[in-house]
Amino acid sequence: MNIKPAKQFLEQPYWQHLAKGKLFLNSCNDCGSSHHPPSPICPKCRSFNTGWKEASGKATLNSFTVVRHAVHPHLEQDVPYIVTLVDLEEGVRLVSGIPAGMEVDLKVGMALECKVIQKDEDFALPYFVPVDADKA
Ligand SMILES: [Zn+2]
Repeated sequence: MNIKPAKQFLEQPYWQHLAKGKLFLNSCNDCGSSHHPPSPICPKCRSFNTGWKEASGKATLNSFTVVRHAVHPHLEQDVPYIVTLVDLEEGVRLVSGIPAGMEVDLKVGMALECKVIQKDEDFALPYFVPVDADKA
């Protein structure tokens, strides 16, 4: 079973783009910076002129941990799983994870790429995997 955001959140652009398989970031049309979570005001220059830009999908692993204790009954079948902290090329830091069942050898500072995984018909999550994970 998936734990997913409430319907009113899934209707927001960030989640709508993910449901279509794309990672978009809230970005400022004046200074060009990207930010997350989305905001109607640019946190860098305070402009209200914000929009959405597709992310490159390139990131660096900042940190990670292996979760072995299910913090919610719906996660019991998922443990152990890996939670990651990733720094996107656009300057945004996201909490993400490694897809279930993927064997990886993680090292802080390694290059990662985004892999959007559909969880159900209207809900997808961005995972970040080592660049060569699919080729190994
Ligand atoms: Zn700005």
